Amino acid sequence: MSDSQDRAPSQEDAWLDRVLERIRAGHPDGVRVGPGHDCAAVDVDGGSVVVTTDVLVDGVHFRLDAMEPATVARKALAVNLSDLAAAAAVPIGFVVGGVLPAPADPALFEAISLGFAEAAEALACPCLGGDTNVAEGPLVLAVTALGAPGPMGVLSRKGAEPGMVLSLTGPVGGSIHGRHLTFTPRVAEAQALARHGVPRAMMDVSDGLALDLSRLCRASGVGVRVDADRIPIHPDVDATGDARLAHALGDGEDFELLVAHEPLDAETTNALAAEGVTLVPIGTFQAPEAGLVLVGPDGEQPLRPTGFDHLG
Ligand SMILES: [Mg+2]
Repeated sequence: MSDSQDRAPSQEDAWLDRVLERIRAGHPDGVRVGPGHDCAAVDVDGGSVVVTTDVLVDGVHFRLDAMEPATVARKALAVNLSDLAAAAAVPIGFVVGGVLPAPADPALFEAISLGFAEAAEALACPCLGGDTNVAEGPLVLAVTALGAPGPMGVLSRKGAEPGMVLSLTGPVGGSIHGRHLTFTPRVAEAQALARHGVPRAMMDVSDGLALDLSRLCRASGVGVRVDADRIPIHPDVDATGDARLAHALGDGEDFELLVAHEPLDAETTNALAAEGVTLVPIGTFQAPEAGLVLVGPDGEQPLRPTGFDHLG
């Protein structure tokens, strides 16, 4: 949700590129999915554990002066579950690290803790523990969530191939009007998709459709053609004309899933619909040389990776 439109790749991706090689070099064999995806996965005692973490900061991801602490706690958990959904993993539980603004306010601690307890029940992911500190500065909440592999194992951003369909699980844009706090992570949808053997690669839309899609394409080593008029634009987008599409592509915090899959047969489409899951096809993956292309009413143009750059 910023205007870092013209940098590609994002500052965050560029910073990561400089350190990831060194980090990966220290990996033992049991690391199934490493950095650069929505979740990591590591082999433990014959199975795999899926893990993800997200840090939320007052003033950046939420406004503590404008919302209930319980709302903030719910979001801190939900963004992690959205990453587990991207891996088609089944949530096991979470831990939370919090830094409270000094001087420590016991009422704030209690409200956030009870908020996490409530969110844990509502989102069916128990709180397993945590740690609290106090420091000068904004409230910071870091949640780490654990999951178990779903019916297709652990999905990642890698696996999209030329010819596969790119779909979204729901409409995008305008989340700032409330959905960025109240969204339901697509855990159930991801499970249904995996049960039917559909997804080959997945990613949740947190930083913006265009930016996140560029990351999925990079991880999979593919290009993509996106049909502008097939992108489902959320009714929350209050702009008109071309600005509507720009919001859908770049607003972020939609927490819908980008899904790479083979074309669906009618039987699978109907089975998914019976479980309340609709995939909206918005494009087709291409060979990497094709790059990222947006096909609109005025023809083709490069799909710029618009979205929220955390370090920009
Ligand atoms: Mg993600």
